[in-house]
Amino acid sequence: MTPLTFYNSLSRSLEEFRPLDPADVRVYSCGPTVYNYAHLGNLRAYVFTDTLARVLKWRAAEAGWGALTHVINITDVGHLQSDADAGEDKMEARAKATGQDIWAIAAHYTAAFKQNLRDLNIADPTAFPLATDHIVEMIAFGETIAAKHCYQLDGGLYFDVSTVPDYGRLARAREDEGESRIDPVAGKRHPQDFAIWRASDPGEHRQMEWDSPWGRGAPGWHLECSVMSRKYLGASFDIHTGGIDHREIHHPNEIAQNQAFCGCAATGATFWMHNNFLVDRTGKMAKSSGDFLTLQAVVDRGFHPLAYRLMCLQAHYRSEMEFSWDGLSAASVRLKRLVHAVDALRARAMSPGVSAASYRERLDAALADDLNTPRALPVLDELLADKRVAPADRLATVAGVDAVLGLGLLSLRREDLRVRPASATLDEAAVAARLMERREARAAKDFPRSDAIRDELAAAGVEVMDGDPLGWDWKLA
Ligand code: AMP
Ligand code: ZN
Repeated sequence: MTPLTFYNSLSRSLEEFRPLDPADVRVYSCGPTVYNYAHLGNLRAYVFTDTLARVLKWRAAEAGWGALTHVINITDVGHLQSDADAGEDKMEARAKATGQDIWAIAAHYTAAFKQNLRDLNIADPTAFPLATDHIVEMIAFGETIAAKHCYQLDGGLYFDVSTVPDYGRLARAREDEGESRIDPVAGKRHPQDFAIWRASDPGEHRQMEWDSPWGRGAPGWHLECSVMSRKYLGASFDIHTGGIDHREIHHPNEIAQNQAFCGCAATGATFWMHNNFLVDRTGKMAKSSGDFLTLQAVVDRGFHPLAYRLMCLQAHYRSEMEFSWDGLSAASVRLKRLVHAVDALRARAMSPGVSAASYRERLDAALADDLNTPRALPVLDELLADKRVAPADRLATVAGVDAVLGLGLLSLRREDLRVRPASATLDEAAVAARLMERREARAAKDFPRSDAIRDELAAAGVEVMDGDPLGWDWKLA
């Protein structure tokens, strides 16, 4: 069996994965800040973590591993407009701008995020803990590290990064680069020092604030992940994930807190893994801009959400990926082709042929190589097209690999993938009925009538597709 290797951002190299405790493989993924809908880039981060979780499950039986414990937190307090401790809390700013209750905002966007995950076939993690449910534990954590590692300013309690070994090893930023990106706060000892607790300004009333030994206020953003990862996964666990932006500030700060808490050099997780960004040349990938690409926008354009999942899997998670509607459209066609091929196999499931074992090995080798989905997908295409392999074994192998890809290849129906923009007002049942009449007319060689139905459908924006290689009977013109 090919060794399972992941790229570890700590060493900037591929390392073989061996869990600390084979009975319980433990993964923590930094979750969304729920002040708005997730954009497609955020969702790429969770397609990545889901692929990781699915590959770990796929290898579990052979490797003799037990449970997978996967935690995705929900950031409902503490994340400022800049990752580096500047600006307003994103949640508070949103509440002010919309005049809404901050708790209602958090609940609404948390539910929307979970719906996005379901639409993308992203398996539920073991737990989705909320930051605001852990304020007491965050304060206790702060109290443990305060004396040796923190100092108090008017703005709250700050972490002194010079008190831990090798601060910023994960980011590998040259000190001057890091400094220029961090807004100065009066009194900070080092530019990279960060807030453990942010005291509310005198006279300021936040919707979310709590009493603490450092004044009434709210926790710093990084604290929640140290506290929740430790609570749910222990002081040492296997993998911590996030987007590549987290490699620079959020994760180095989590590591510093973890080191301060344990009084040791351990970072918390053995592997730190980061997905690269989804970028959009039109600039629609910033949640803070207010105008950004959501999964709903994908659905409104008529695409199935899983076309976006396939688009993500076509790129390696560590490569930057560019979003375009053409790219999404191509992924949608590719998904239709896969579903069509599976349908065709089902019809011939009893036919004889050779074993698909060599394909299973190649698929496994690709996925074990740092989740190389772009390499696995063409192997899947090849398998589906290989007429020597017994259809039943081809189907079984597709089912197995789809447990990792999560594309729903055995449950999606081709109709599900028909492009249906939200703007189109079309009665699909009526179209199906007219097409049935047309088939009958053609069977009776009544071509004038068949053509008349075709023209009538064309006038309603429906293009009839005779002899389509994918077996489609119509599409929106
Ligand atoms: P946030 O809701 O901003 O806290 O981000 C949620 C997750 O999305 C984090 O892991 C981020 O690192 C990740 N992320 C943010 N922007 C992008 C992007 N454009 N492409 C991929 N991942 C992103
Ligand atoms: Zn985090």
